[in-house]
Amino acid sequence: MPAAAVRKSANPAKPRKLPAKKAERLQTILDALDLLYPNVTCALHHTNAWELLVATILSAQCTDERVNKVTPGLFQKYRSIKAFATVPQAELAQDIHSTGFFNNKAKSIIGAANKILNEFNGEIPQDIDKLLTVPGAARKTANVVLGTAFGIASGVVVDTHVQRICQRLELTKETDPVKIERDLVAILPQDRWIQFSHQVIHFGRGICVARKPKCAECPLHTICRAPDKTVP
Ligand code: SF4
Repeated sequence: MPAAAVRKSANPAKPRKLPAKKAERLQTILDALDLLYPNVTCALHHTNAWELLVATILSAQCTDERVNKVTPGLFQKYRSIKAFATVPQAELAQDIHSTGFFNNKAKSIIGAANKILNEFNGEIPQDIDKLLTVPGAARKTANVVLGTAFGIASGVVVDTHVQRICQRLELTKETDPVKIERDLVAILPQDRWIQFSHQVIHFGRGICVARKPKCAECPLHTICRAPDKTVP
């Protein structure tokens, strides 16, 4: 699914100036990610911002592949935000059953649909503070939707891959996703925020996997000091 072009911010956030060695290390990481994944975007299939919001809510504790199997039928059955707003929760839960945590997810999706219809005129808000008031849209979800559907660099998506890899590559010492995001937005140029998340998520699925990372095929193994590296 093509991502929206990244919108230029009128006042882009300036990254913190790093000491020369750290800046060089960060640039090595960004260059390697660009070489590995020059054109990546969100793996969740969608045709508009609402569908992406629903898919992202469904992706919690679930693989994107599984979500992509469920959403075509779902969007065929519920063709508008209004259709989602009025479905009984039990029925929607049944429709999304295979993605897990289906009762909570159904409640969030119905709540989101009602909030967007009643308070945002049926449009997904393109402002992070407003989007964060929508049920089911915590920071990760809001950053996915704003970045991928609208090209708005509101922050860095921190999922389990971004969390693990940024710790391994010493871009953060934090374990809380909100604090990790704060560390990342402080050192990354704002025009890299959206792409960086997509690249790291692909890197985490393909090479720097959670168990037994494939360090022998990793272009960053010479600068990586992760304790769970599988090559010297
Ligand atoms: S060397 Fe291994 S642990 Fe380090 S970033 Fe590469 S794959 Fe991950």
